Amino acid sequence: MSSRVLARKYRPRTFAEVIGQEHIVRALSRAIERDRVGQAYLLIGPRGVGKTSTARIVARSLNCVEGPTVTPCLACDPCREIEAGSDVDVVEIDGASNNGVDDVRALRDRVHYRPLRDRTKIYIIDEVQRLSGPAFDALLKTLEEPPGHALFLFATTDPHRIPDTIVSRCQVFEFRRLREVDILEKLRSICQAEEVEVPEEVLAALARGCRGGLRDAESMLDQVLAVADGSPTLEDLEMVAGLARPERWLDLLEAVARDDGAAILGAVESFLERGGTERDFVEQATEAVRHVLHVVLLGEDALGVEPEPARRERMLALARDLGRDRLETLLGMLFQLEARMTGAPLSARALLEWTLLRAGRLGRLLETADLLESLAGGPPAASAPPSSPPPARGGASPTAGGPAAAEPSAAAPASEPASEALERMREEIRRARPGLARVLDQHWLEGEILPDGVRVSLRRPPEEDQRLLEDPAERAWLASLSGSPGPWTLVWPEAEEKRPDPLGQRLLDLFHATEEQP
Ligand SMILES: [Zn+2]
Repeated sequence: MSSRVLARKYRPRTFAEVIGQEHIVRALSRAIERDRVGQAYLLIGPRGVGKTSTARIVARSLNCVEGPTVTPCLACDPCREIEAGSDVDVVEIDGASNNGVDDVRALRDRVHYRPLRDRTKIYIIDEVQRLSGPAFDALLKTLEEPPGHALFLFATTDPHRIPDTIVSRCQVFEFRRLREVDILEKLRSICQAEEVEVPEEVLAALARGCRGGLRDAESMLDQVLAVADGSPTLEDLEMVAGLARPERWLDLLEAVARDDGAAILGAVESFLERGGTERDFVEQATEAVRHVLHVVLLGEDALGVEPEPARRERMLALARDLGRDRLETLLGMLFQLEARMTGAPLSARALLEWTLLRAGRLGRLLETADLLESLAGGPPAASAPPSSPPPARGGASPTAGGPAAAEPSAAAPASEPASEALERMREEIRRARPGLARVLDQHWLEGEILPDGVRVSLRRPPEEDQRLLEDPAERAWLASLSGSPGPWTLVWPEAEEKRPDPLGQRLLDLFHATEEQP
């Protein structure tokens, strides 16, 4: 009952409050400012990332008595009624419950009347893909000759189920999953506003567990606050939100790594016993595997918001033990499992166990394949690159497994001493300035020692981290580190979305990969 409270209370009400969708906010604001708003928009994206909130913000921007404006007042009748869903000229339809052709026909008849009070008559249709075929036909008729006073905002999690004839009449905006750090930040600010104390590790687990959907994170936070006796714990989270403790996935992956069939079955059993479904299991396990794979490919920085040192160590060990090949294959197997489960829901559990047991065997199969290859006179060290270890915590250079070194490393052994010096400095920072180290480590992309200083590229940090990084005292301290030839230059790209995304491409490719690789 109360599970929607936080999500509703902290829903963005202005463009400025929308998180992580800068490209959309920019385009829509510009259209409103220049009075070039289209007739129909299709908002695509996973659940809980702000599609409907954005649609309402557009409605308020256009219908606010002070508008059209990109900063609606939030106080006038239209602003407040749109928030409450009671504005006569802003009609919200839930495609999931109104998929009948009659509703859309009624819409079609009414759309030609001028708005009763507001400037623009706005139809927000959520989950529009759920409309029936005849309903889409009726909608299409309306979109073919829309009256000038009407605006359609469609939201969908599944654009492929919408007829092309509809899509082609819309301006399409794709919402992204939110980044963990952004979600974590928002959760922290909610806790602050609510004056509740929630341990960082619980917030981090929420930020990771919601898979980029802020609303899910908020409603899980809601649930966990409702049941927790005092400060909520990871156990509370597991019980009420079905979000398995991170240890459970580490246990499972360790069991897979050592091909321990009994432990694998035990992990499935205890997850399902606590009320999770096989599908939840696959979703969360996929996320866990993906996370370890990121650590293999991107190094320790990819550990992200995980604050607990013991879990960080276990993740690093798993990344070393499983290696890229096994993890990629495992990911492919989980994707296939999801599809198989859809086809055979009654066998979901058997399919799940079978897949995981096979994943355990896979290590031996890969070893055997290597052995056979070396017996056949193939390259004897062929197994090295796939299972190349991630940078160890104190040992190897930080960029050895990172994206920067991935391609050129073979050709550039000369940079070794410099990167060792850099790693020594990073260790020193971790010892002496843990707060600064946390921010640097979390966002670190690559570092380079130049003749007159150190240059570090970072993922764009959230504002509060930026402030720390720009602190002159911290900068002076960095420059004074032994081994540092001068001041540290910290750079981060203005817009992260412009960088190429090789890992994303890799994951996409995996969708098409088959699991029978060995
Ligand atoms: Zn207003």
